[in-house]
Amino acid sequence: MADELTIAVLSGKGGVGKTMVSVNLAAVAPSATYIDCDVEEPNGHLFLAPDIEEERTVTVGKPEVDQSRCDGCRICTQACAFKALAYVKDRLLVFSEICHSCGLCYHLCPQGALSERQQPLGVIRRGKRGNLTVHSAEMRIGEPSGVPLIKALTQNINGGLTIIDGPPGSGCLVHETIAASDFCLLVAEPTRFGEHNLALIHHLVTMMGKPCAVLLNKSTGGYNPSEAYAKANGLSIIASIPWDEELGRITADGELAALHSAHYRGVFTSLLEAIKAEAHHA
Ligand code: SF4
Ligand code: SF4
Repeated sequence: MADELTIAVLSGKGGVGKTMVSVNLAAVAPSATYIDCDVEEPNGHLFLAPDIEEERTVTVGKPEVDQSRCDGCRICTQACAFKALAYVKDRLLVFSEICHSCGLCYHLCPQGALSERQQPLGVIRRGKRGNLTVHSAEMRIGEPSGVPLIKALTQNINGGLTIIDGPPGSGCLVHETIAASDFCLLVAEPTRFGEHNLALIHHLVTMMGKPCAVLLNKSTGGYNPSEAYAKANGLSIIASIPWDEELGRITADGELAALHSAHYRGVFTSLLEAIKAEAHHA
């Protein structure tokens, strides 16, 4: 199938234009699935405004202690890599907000004093806007890891064209997002900081063996450190979107530039075609 492709749109940090690019690519696709993996700060749905068809809670296991069984051996507190357990004044304390649900402590406790209790991590939603299916998630405030939400979201990749709005940065949420994709579009801005962040995400994508290309966003026509990095490292520059106050205003108003102007419809249609061509030759 020509459109059997999952594109992850990534940037080494927020504010580079990753969501703007993702939602506009989704808007110009004749039919696609859009997945917002930025579970800590999802805002793709604000632009796409889907009609919500389904919402469900995703839970994760956290330890619950039976104090009457605990003999204070501290095997669990020493084993927990996240320091989410402490034995204080003859009681085992569980700090759920920093527990990463690895499950190790239940397995190690020789007294069977720890068991797993499911707690809500967040909600995932599915909605429709025309031929676009939109999946997003919202993590509960204070949760330490949204990885289970991303795993739940990426189960919706269904063999057609999927555009993933990745989380910012280069941590484990990004790692999970890259793993689910076929091709990564690295959005970079024309600053030294932009170059640094591009290098971080480029190394991660390369390490994970995924093909990628750079989209230079907010280009001013002057020296662009991100462009220089891409050229020096043999990284394909798929397109450049010039700095445009009007694009910034449209986006700040929560509108889709591709639907707002024929110019940007053309820009994002060409970009999507270029990504497909590059991905299929990778
Ligand atoms: S391993 Fe079990 S018995 Fe030992 S301190 Fe932890 S909960 Fe208590
Ligand atoms: S489940 Fe893992 S992270 Fe959570 S308290 Fe137990 S050992 Fe620590």
